[in-house]
Amino acid sequence: MTAPPGIPFFPYTQLFLSKESELLAVMADVCRRGAYILQKDSLEFEKSLAEFTGARHAFGVANGTDAIIIGLKAAGIGPGDEVILPSHTYIATAAAVHMVGGIPVLAECGADHMLDPGDIAHRVTSKTKAVMPVHINGRTCDMSAIGRVADRHGLMIVEDAAQGLGSRFDGRSAGTFGRFGSISFYPAKLLGCFGDGGAILTNDDTMAEQILLLRDHGRNAEGRVVAWGYNSRLDNLQAAVLGHKLKTFREDIDRRRFVAELYQKGLGDLDELDLPPAPNADSCHFDVYQNYEVEADRRDELKAYLGQRGIGTIIQWGGTPVHQFRELGFTVDLPRTDRFFERCLMLPMNVAITDAEVAYVVASVRAFYAA
Ligand SMILES: *Cc1c(COP(=O)(O)O)cnc(C)c1O
Repeated sequence: MTAPPGIPFFPYTQLFLSKESELLAVMADVCRRGAYILQKDSLEFEKSLAEFTGARHAFGVANGTDAIIIGLKAAGIGPGDEVILPSHTYIATAAAVHMVGGIPVLAECGADHMLDPGDIAHRVTSKTKAVMPVHINGRTCDMSAIGRVADRHGLMIVEDAAQGLGSRFDGRSAGTFGRFGSISFYPAKLLGCFGDGGAILTNDDTMAEQILLLRDHGRNAEGRVVAWGYNSRLDNLQAAVLGHKLKTFREDIDRRRFVAELYQKGLGDLDELDLPPAPNADSCHFDVYQNYEVEADRRDELKAYLGQRGIGTIIQWGGTPVHQFRELGFTVDLPRTDRFFERCLMLPMNVAITDAEVAYVVASVRAFYAA
């Protein structure tokens, strides 16, 4: 089998070039109107995003990390409050809790790589205020199991849905189960913009008011300052691009699910790999494959081998789960999460990869284990 010219892990330039003229037209339209901050494109995008997710409100903010910080502030999480979250997440999830004065309490991931509902209860103390499931890799956590634990212990649910836009559990969108859900539009996220961007989803009108104040200097609808606030707005240029991309986002999701199906068919029988759940494995979950993360025997050798064959792969977050950042004061031991991070590897998963390229990745992985 001859090698294609190279399969990048994520084709940043190609995603622009394949739609260059329409994207430039969207941007030119915004710039010709001089419409940069909180203009109609932002408002329209927020409306479309709310409709798409089924959330009552959606508000653009500067990035996905700010979305969590502002969401937590609006929800009243503050100094000394403990928030339980998985160690299998980006540092931003824990950092947001720290930045509002709270204490991130880290928990194990389960077999599907999500926050393990069974590991929440014994981490609850008298200071625990909330649990923050993270819908990692485009899969919504088992929200009925997490909901039961949260109810039993009187915990608020807040969601990091940075990687979950479009995924569902029991028909309901990631980010719409809790007091709020955060979304990230970082370029490599499911719905990416050309820079930083984020959004907060909420079904709660009081939360909505707080969020609007917090993201814009505490200014109310009349422009009067009535509270302390940040400057954290999704800029209008990014919002216009996102609004344009959202129109075809369902097709993007279909494509990602199809690529996942190809990986499943091509690699599902290998004993050396544990694949993520297949697209139709479980009727409760609708997964959108932000990433295609496998667990692999001889992971580092596999990564090197694929690299030699021109295939870009990534060990997420440099192979470091949050609890291993001892410099940040974490002391908890999470052996299941440690084990996962020794084996995890992300294969190329994006809307630009072709069927032939996926076949080449599959053949290469198989060749590695056959050798
Ligand atoms: C990307 C990401 C964030 C942060 O989003 P930014 O837009 O980069 O600030 C938070 N949590 C998770 C799980 C993420 O993947």
